[in-house]
Order: sequence, then structure tokens, then C-alpha cells
Amino acid sequence: MVKTSTNLSSDPVEMLLHCLTLGIATGLYGLQLTNLINDAVVGDPKIRVGGTGLGIIDPEYINLMVTGHQESLFIHIMERIASPAAAELARSAGAKGFRVVGCTCVGQDMQQRAECYGEYFYGNAGNNFTSEAILATGAVDGVISEFNCTLPGIETVCETYDIVQICIDKVAKKKNAELMDWDDDSILDKIAEAYCRRRKNVKIHIPDHGFKDSMAGISEINLKQFLGGEWKPLLDLIVSGKIKGIVGVVGCSSVREGHDVLTVQLTRELIKRDILVLTAGCSSGALANCGLTRREAALEAGAGLREICQSLGIPPVLNFGPCIAIGRLEMAAAELAEELSVDMPQLPLAFSAAQWLEEQALADGAFGLSLGLTLHLGLPPYMTGSKTVVQVLTKDMETLTGGRLIIDNNPKTAADQLEAAIMDKRKALNI
Ligand code: SF4
Repeated sequence: MVKTSTNLSSDPVEMLLHCLTLGIATGLYGLQLTNLINDAVVGDPKIRVGGTGLGIIDPEYINLMVTGHQESLFIHIMERIASPAAAELARSAGAKGFRVVGCTCVGQDMQQRAECYGEYFYGNAGNNFTSEAILATGAVDGVISEFNCTLPGIETVCETYDIVQICIDKVAKKKNAELMDWDDDSILDKIAEAYCRRRKNVKIHIPDHGFKDSMAGISEINLKQFLGGEWKPLLDLIVSGKIKGIVGVVGCSSVREGHDVLTVQLTRELIKRDILVLTAGCSSGALANCGLTRREAALEAGAGLREICQSLGIPPVLNFGPCIAIGRLEMAAAELAEELSVDMPQLPLAFSAAQWLEEQALADGAFGLSLGLTLHLGLPPYMTGSKTVVQVLTKDMETLTGGRLIIDNNPKTAADQLEAAIMDKRKALNI
């Protein structure tokens, strides 16, 4: 995997091809397989309407915020929270019970399978950069974090609000946090202790933020079931032009361009142009918190997409949950291509990781490019020093895999370019 030592490749094109190979490994194992394993271990995603945003938090409970990517690490904790012993522990601390506040992709993943957790999981409050605001409500008593995307900087917020920090993955040990095993039953005791200690001193303010009726829980499996067990109804809508095409708005949130600003503005532009948006990653937390995963958001869509959304009772932005669910979008794309007997790059489909942040997002992007998909990024990766690399990624790649990179931080012109890519594919398919 290492190509940066002095005795290895110095050919930029060869290194880029190697990135595509690594992208395939990331896509198959890190994205697609992880979803399928979570389905088997935790339970299948189910389409549901529920709460998102800071407003979901109830201060009368002992609240734990979860961050990271590995939902299966939380199964034991969720089972323990639902036990009579935990109910008694909470009662003796003076609270109504324990509740989990979702944050980042693990929260988004839990939201997909919220039925498995019942009342013990509120829903997803926000994405990576929402973490500070969630903690600043004062109503969170403990943070349990695991592998990556627990926002650097929350340590001082936790200190200020006397919030206990527990890491259950030694890869991602945070300053001030206690490293504990995921199955250590004393995790809840520590958070209950924090509740008793801090609630006397901390001011709590839960803002009126988010929505009670955001749709989530969509997967490539239940979406097909919703369409009657086949993709044909969706393909017919694309052929008719009521839906011009599909864009997966995926990946991280960052504060460059403003927290979620580019992601949300771009999505609004796309749905206005009758382009259906599927979302996965911290982008989905942003779009949910701005109301775009509610059925009412159909009113913001163009006439064709609005009509479809209103007749099917769906929003114009379909929430697939965490960033690993980008693998679900790609499985759905593969099935659509198969049903049409075309190759994936021929589909009127593109991806945008408008506000990507983590290296992981670039690996996911390399998977998309290796599949031959058009990929928009709001900001360039660290590549613009090389004319060759820019030329290959934004132009020449199309002759190799069919995919290419669009880099544009303006929501309107980025939507123009994505729409043009979709219209070119439609033309080539003669639709
Ligand atoms: S979308 Fe990006 S920032 Fe958000 S949890 Fe996934 S990798 Fe982290």
C-alpha cells in the first residue's frame, strides 16, 4: 500500500492507477462488505420516519453520544442499556433511563436500523462538526467514541461541561478519554456517575433544531422492495425524463465553504433540476437537519421530481445513512446497469463528495472513479501541483474507466456540470 518511499514508483500515472486498485479494495471490503456484515449482525435497515437534530435530546435521561464508524461495537452497550439493571441504575441516579444520541456515521448507521434499538436510540443529532453543538446543549453525560471522525477539539468542550469521554477502540484514543473494552459493563456506571455529578452544575439548553419527520433507513434492498421488487419503475421514470438522473451526495462535512453550506446548496440545485439525490455519510446528517429528507421537501424539487415524490410519498433526497453506505449506492447502481444491460459508466448517474474531509473519503472516491463514475469534489485533493495528475483525473481517466473528476466549489456551476454529465449520458443512451 505504500508508494511514498524513495525507492518506489516515481511515475504519477502508475501511482494513480495504484490508487484505483486500492479504491476497489476499499469499496468491496470497507464499504460493501461492512454493510452486509452489519445487516447480518445488527439487522437490516428499515425505511422509517423519525427525529433528527439537536431537538431529539431529552434532558431527563442519562444521555450518551456515540461517534465513529463501527456500529457492531455498540451492540453490547445497546443491549445493556435496554436491561432492567440499567433501568435501575438510571433510576437510582435520578434519571428516567439511558438514551443514545447518534452523531457522525455510527449515529447515521444506527438511525438506519433504529427499529433494532427501540426507544433507547433517539435518532441522529448531527454530523462530525455538529458534535460540539450537541455537547454544548449540556444534556450529554458521556461520549463513547471508536474508530475515526470523533471531532478533534471536543476534548475541551467535554472538559468544560464535565462530560465523561470513553474510547472503545485503541486506534482512536482521545485525550482525557478512558480506554475501555466495548463489552465492559462498567461503562454505564461511569456515565451514570457523571450524570449525578454534573447535572447539579451544568446549564442545559436544547434548541428547537432539526425535524421530527425525517425519512431514513433506505437501502438498495428495501428501495427495490418499495418499487415492487424490481428497478423498472425507477428506470421508467428516468427514461420518461421526469427524473433526469441520480446524484449520490455523499461523504463528509467540513467547515471549508461553511459547515454543510456547499453540500446543502448543491443538493437544492440538483433537486430543482429534477435530479434525484441519494445521500450517505455526514452529508446525510446535514441534509436531514436542513429538512431535505422530509416529504415536504418535494416542494423544493422541479416539477417532474416533485410529482413523483408527492405520488410516492417520498422526499427528493433519500437517506442511506453512513458513509460506508456509499457501498450500498454502488450496489444499487450495479443492479440498475444490469437491468438495463449497460455498463455502469453509461448510467445517468454521478457522485458528489462536495465537502470531503477524511482520507477515507478519497479512497471511497477512488472506488467511484474505478467504477467509471463521474465524481464531483468541492475542493481538490492535494494534487493541483501536478499538471499531469490534474489532466489524468479530470480528463484522460474517462477513456480508461469512464469516470472523471469535477472540481468546483460553486453550488450552481457544480450543479451545471453534474447536470451536463447526466444529460450527456442520457443522450448516449438515446433517452
Ligand atoms: S462521512 Fe466523513 S467525516 Fe463523516 S463519519 Fe464518515 S468519514 Fe467521518
